[in-house]
Amino acid sequence: ILKGKTAIVTGSNSGIGLGVAEELARAGADIVLNSFTDRPEDHALAARIGSNFGIKARYIAADMSRGDACRALVERAGGCDILVNNAGIQFVAPVDEFPAEKWDQIIAINLSSAFHTSAAALPFMRQRGWGRIVNIASAHGLTASPFKSAYIAAKHGVVGLSKTVALETAGQGITCNAICPGYVLTPLVEAQIPDQMKVHNMDRETVIREVMLQRQPSRQFATTEQIGGTTLFLCSPAADQITGTTISVDGGWTAL
Ligand code: NAD
Repeated sequence: ILKGKTAIVTGSNSGIGLGVAEELARAGADIVLNSFTDRPEDHALAARIGSNFGIKARYIAADMSRGDACRALVERAGGCDILVNNAGIQFVAPVDEFPAEKWDQIIAINLSSAFHTSAAALPFMRQRGWGRIVNIASAHGLTASPFKSAYIAAKHGVVGLSKTVALETAGQGITCNAICPGYVLTPLVEAQIPDQMKVHNMDRETVIREVMLQRQPSRQFATTEQIGGTTLFLCSPAADQITGTTISVDGGWTAL
């Protein structure tokens, strides 16, 4: 259903971004992968996705902590029909001990990048009379937890930005929404499981249920494929009138 469309997915050489890129490629979209590195394996990943799904795929390096680089990414891609703002980092510390440079970096990558890429992409979308902006926020865009002030402020900001962009584009064939995942099983999360098993002296199943997924009522991780599938839904005709809202994929976290 996405044949002839081009999708830029920021922060897509691993985890959720990669899962989203693969689901959009499976649906026929041409893909622009991105991260801040510029390694042969980044470009090889794009080549692999291109040949696996029979679409055009490119990797464009750009540091999403810099506004000019965010805008240059969109320009170098020649604009896009679908923009998925996914790049994000985390840092954990109490507010009064939170390093100011970490705060600035998280706000830049997790929030301001979505402002810059959207600003750069919208003229292209308006020209074509069609566009989808999907911002990967978090359950932490709707609720809080201690020690994650910058991340939570940024993700709440992303939800607000999504609503504003939706209002400014309403009726123009363009939608803007935020997906709010709970805990998603990415390679990064997978890698934490052995450590958590050791620290809590629990087996894999117990540490996942009782420690890691304590706040997720389903006690099951969401998957990167499910976040990709939700993104694809937002790009489908069924979602033409869905704009300025959030979709939680969190096993019931925000219902608590
Ligand atoms: P990840 O670390 O696997 O992916 C983050 C991606 O962003 C990577 O591709 C990384 O290279 C890229 N990135 C980091 N800094 C960048 C920069 N300066 N410029 C460009 N790219 C950069 O983590 P993930 O879990 O896949 O997270 C993806 C998004 O999903 C993030 O925004 C995160 O906040 C959000 N999220 C994750 C979870 C989860 O449980 N994993 C839950 C809710 C929301």
